[in-house]
Amino acid sequence: MSFESNKPRLRLRVSAVAETQLRAGHPWVFSESIREQNREGAVGELAVVYDRKDKFLAVGLFDPDSPIRLRVLHAGKPQNIDVAWWEARLREAVERRRGLFDDQTNGYRLINGESDGWPGLVLDRYDKTLVLKIYSAIWLPRFAEISEIIGTELKPERIVLRLSRNIQEAARKSISKRDGEILYGDRQDACSTFLETGIRFEADVCHGQKTGFFLDQRENRRVVESLAAGRDVLNAFSFSGGFSLYAARGGAASVTDLDISAHALESAKRNFALNQSNAAIARCRHESVQADAFDWLNAHERRKFGLIVLDPPSFAKRESERAGAIRAYERLAGLGIRHLGRDGILVACSCSAHVTAEEFFGAVRAAAEKSARKFREIQTTRHAPDHRAAFKEAEYLKGIYLHLF
Ligand code: SAH
Repeated sequence: MSFESNKPRLRLRVSAVAETQLRAGHPWVFSESIREQNREGAVGELAVVYDRKDKFLAVGLFDPDSPIRLRVLHAGKPQNIDVAWWEARLREAVERRRGLFDDQTNGYRLINGESDGWPGLVLDRYDKTLVLKIYSAIWLPRFAEISEIIGTELKPERIVLRLSRNIQEAARKSISKRDGEILYGDRQDACSTFLETGIRFEADVCHGQKTGFFLDQRENRRVVESLAAGRDVLNAFSFSGGFSLYAARGGAASVTDLDISAHALESAKRNFALNQSNAAIARCRHESVQADAFDWLNAHERRKFGLIVLDPPSFAKRESERAGAIRAYERLAGLGIRHLGRDGILVACSCSAHVTAEEFFGAVRAAAEKSARKFREIQTTRHAPDHRAAFKEAEYLKGIYLHLF
């Protein structure tokens, strides 16, 4: 690339611990691990890490402004990072998902960041629309190259660009792109619908949270469908009703969506409307409540449900919030349990990467124990296969299912 061509290759040496981590496949090198650097590096520049014997260890994308100074693209034997290399990486990610979905599911993740070898980059498919979401400025200098490769290889009808908040300004300056811009294809139907296991959903791909839909919860939704028959279901933090539609299809007597956002509740209503051809969904009573979930659960002590889903936003955005988050998960699970009738099922999820699965499961189990009710653990769940987590820091999603008597 032009910004790299007339300078010697950026070369790094790292601490012994970081070398070991790189050899074990960890995708990040933190700034404090860097021992030597031959010159200053620009954002997104390719940098090579050499080990103590001067042998190639890894190559990655450099970021002088981030504590994660290098995001690894490849470790092991030296490789040339060119267009053919990127194409092969894209095919590899697509290949990994082959056989996971039939034609009843055309919304799923194609690239899950570091875990697929694309650090800080996500690619989601919503039927014929692809949503490319960039979380790190390292991609901005090679943005045109990457989006062209994606377009040529996957031939979508359109590609929508999403930018995490921290890089929106840099993207405006360096590539003149804004969050939600359509990169390729026409504007029509950009925010259209897709199928997840045969249920039709809308996704606000241009402006919605993440890339417009919580594709990561598909497997938990299927479990909820299998448990919902005949039950009155509360879906707290319902967003666009993902869990609700599955519960309805599974034969729930009623579904109550509870969310603080009117916008989210309206989207859930439209998703119910989109699926009226399914008899079970058409039959299910659907109610929406706009409120803070903690407040509402506190104030409506007498409302009982047969199945409650608690899938809140992350309670710990940073490490310092971890302990408070664990307490909040326990409090929320306790509130949920108070609304469960006899023979009720609690489904509690956490998407906080800073809270480990065991900490979260422990908090929910503690709430069940404090309720003094008998309970049985049905199962715990982790990442869906299209959201593979190949290293510890990438693991964020966990779910626990308790049956309370
Ligand atoms: N379960 C959803 C995803 C949840 S995203 C799914 O499967 O698609 C988190 C949701 O929580 C958002 O819709 C947000 O509006 C809502 N939310 C955030 N804080 C809230 C609060 N205090 N009370 C109720 N809803 C809240």
